[in-house]
Amino acid sequence: GARPGGLYSPGDPLVLLQVDTLESSVLNSSSAWLVEFYASWCGHCVHFAPTWRALAADIQEWSPAVNLGVLDCADIANQKMCGKFGITGFPTLKSLAFCAWYFGGELCFVPPTDPGDSIQKLRQSIITNLEMHKETWPPACPPLEPASVEEIRGFFQTNNVTYLALIFETNDSFLGREVTLDMLQFENIAVRRVLSSEEELVKKYGVTSFPSSFLLIKNGTFSRIPVQMEARSFYTHFLRRLPGVMRGPYAPIRAPDMLIKTTPTPRRPADRSKVYMADLESALHYALRVEVARFSVLTGERVRALKDFVAVLAKYFPGRPFVRNFLRSVDRWLRNARESRIPYSGLEFVTWVGCQGSEPHFRGYPCSLWTLFHLLTVQATRHRSVDSREAARHSVLGAMRGYVQSFFGCRECAQHFEGMAAESMDKVRSVDEAALWLWSRHNRVNARLAGTETEDPQFPKLQWPPPELCPLCHSVVNRRHVWDKAAVLRFLKAHFSPANIFLDYTE
Ligand code: FAD
Repeated sequence: GARPGGLYSPGDPLVLLQVDTLESSVLNSSSAWLVEFYASWCGHCVHFAPTWRALAADIQEWSPAVNLGVLDCADIANQKMCGKFGITGFPTLKSLAFCAWYFGGELCFVPPTDPGDSIQKLRQSIITNLEMHKETWPPACPPLEPASVEEIRGFFQTNNVTYLALIFETNDSFLGREVTLDMLQFENIAVRRVLSSEEELVKKYGVTSFPSSFLLIKNGTFSRIPVQMEARSFYTHFLRRLPGVMRGPYAPIRAPDMLIKTTPTPRRPADRSKVYMADLESALHYALRVEVARFSVLTGERVRALKDFVAVLAKYFPGRPFVRNFLRSVDRWLRNARESRIPYSGLEFVTWVGCQGSEPHFRGYPCSLWTLFHLLTVQATRHRSVDSREAARHSVLGAMRGYVQSFFGCRECAQHFEGMAAESMDKVRSVDEAALWLWSRHNRVNARLAGTETEDPQFPKLQWPPPELCPLCHSVVNRRHVWDKAAVLRFLKAHFSPANIFLDYTE
């Protein structure tokens, strides 16, 4: 069924955050939080979700010291918060949409994490990151640094527990720290790591191999922990079953149910042969109010990209009068005026119709952005420009390239698109060729994505337009499929014409 938190559901062992719960649960927390900032429409976040979920399951026992959360930056309600944290692309480039911050409200980004990393590597990077924050060590987090001779000597005088497990290991091993965190919710036992370089302790306990572990009991006895393998799960299994060791009263944090929006989006019947104004206006809203707004200050390349994009919209967007007026005034404002505010009203909603997916994380914004740009390339064919300077200013492909490079949140999509643009966009010689260029490159993307997780099963990625929409576009030569480009161009011009834009569901 639909996942209310975007890619995650309340059954997952992590906390689904919303802007209001983020402040209350995370910012004054006594534990460390790792929050994945994602966009539910971004294919790469879709790929990463199973890994993040598996990591959450793997370290479930580490809360209360470490909690995993997720925040959907595609949700308009969370957008300001994501901006505040400097999240400008998904998954964020600083790391795989992967940030951490600690109690006291300090935010610190986790260094880049490769989405292909194993759960083990991600788990270890959490420990490494925790250790980089010694001065803001979460109060709920146990000590993880190696034990010294003095600490072990006086341990049972200063700690009211029956058992102390010592894990002897080399400096680069994470085993001791992992087991310490795994045992966090259990009472009457402590776990400490001892480095192989701690000669006095190594000698005292007769340690000959690393890793290996010893159990010290309050009454003064000690013995090697008997396990089949010197590994995390074997140690925790043994330690949790010691007589007198029990799980403490700690209850894991869950986001209050009422804050999770479960209202299902109504299905809006749509005809695939039509273009819907609701999608186009939603694309405008999302592009200008969410994507561009993620940057608190625009400079250089981004200013140019925004100017070009808005210039093209102001000239070609066949919108309702209030939208066209809005676009024209933004265009004027961007070009010269010194007004401090862009007049903005009317486009306050996002409703997907032709771009509605069967689940919230399918289709939506990227679908509407393609639609918008196809529409703009086709509109440009109706306004043949004589002045070449003006033509350059209104180059739809150039504006799209700049927009995608500067603002499109799916950074890997942007890279792919830039690759195609760099390869052949400058060979485009006319407005007709521009419409066809975008059509054929979109089909390349469709071919690449067909059958992957980002494909909505109810909207399979086709070579478009399929024969039922345009029989004349297809022909067969020597038993091979070929496109009739002239027919495709005629079809594009009809499909993306103002006469084929329907106002259903606009407000
Ligand atoms: P979309 O592919 O979004 O198409 C929207 C609508 O356009 C279709 O419903 C159809 O009516 C029409 N259409 C389809 N094909 C054509 C065509 N050839 N010409 C004209 N109209 C057409 N996702 C990734 O996972 N990886 C990527 O690298 C990636 N790169 C992207 C690059 C860009 C610039 C954009 C805008 C999106 C990218 N995406 C990428 C998202 C992906 O292409 C889809 O937009 C998304 O998966 C939603 O797919 P959809 O089924 O709604 O149809």
